[in-house]
Amino acid sequence: MTSDRYLRQRILPEIGEEGQQRLAQARVLIAGCGALGTNLADLIARAGVGQITVVDHDRVELSNLQRQALMGEADLGRPKAQAVAKALTAINSESEVSYEVTKIEAHNVEQLIEGYHLVLDGFDNLKARYLLNDTCVKHDIPWIFATVAATYGMTMPILPNKGPCLRCLFPSPVPDEIVLTARNAGIINTIPRAIATIETTQALKILLGSPECPVKLITYDIWRNTFSAQEIHKAKHCPCCSEGRYEFLD
Ligand SMILES: [Zn+2]
Repeated sequence: MTSDRYLRQRILPEIGEEGQQRLAQARVLIAGCGALGTNLADLIARAGVGQITVVDHDRVELSNLQRQALMGEADLGRPKAQAVAKALTAINSESEVSYEVTKIEAHNVEQLIEGYHLVLDGFDNLKARYLLNDTCVKHDIPWIFATVAATYGMTMPILPNKGPCLRCLFPSPVPDEIVLTARNAGIINTIPRAIATIETTQALKILLGSPECPVKLITYDIWRNTFSAQEIHKAKHCPCCSEGRYEFLD
């Protein structure tokens, strides 16, 4: 157990021996195995999170390989969640890795997130994020919102009962035809990794009991070299986290 695997991390004052033990006890669910989800999974497993579950309903396609980590040509046609779980087990046999080949929807999301300490957003669509927001706020489970398209991305941790939720930031989802996605705008392969790196750092802070307060929305354009960290506050009349109406879940 006390192998050299985490040596460089254990000597870091931000983590230490005690922090490493905490990570070994942590249970994290990664929702979506796209460009964000695969990069998140790689870092979360290498950091020593004890229990990791990845969820995705898609299969690996050739056009994924430009930006998605942990999978190669041999995985084409396989369920993404299965390919990612196999790669994680090869990277870190000390982590307990499981996977679900299923689409996260209103009828199964509450069951899927039950018992996890943290949920990470690796989705590729906005609607799923609002569903996750409702569910995590309702069940008091922290989650981290993230999105990427073209050359930029953003991420914000959501700490139910402590800070703002996704609907405090964006009250309702922008229609799919207006929002930029990798599908309609393209994507440079460095931005998902950069945003996943920030998202994983926030994840480690939450798991180690040192979440960032007040909560900040981080936005980064990797082509234009612009970075911002903006404080976000709870909205007074947020239907989700103030009024307890879970419209996407119901
Ligand atoms: Zn809210």
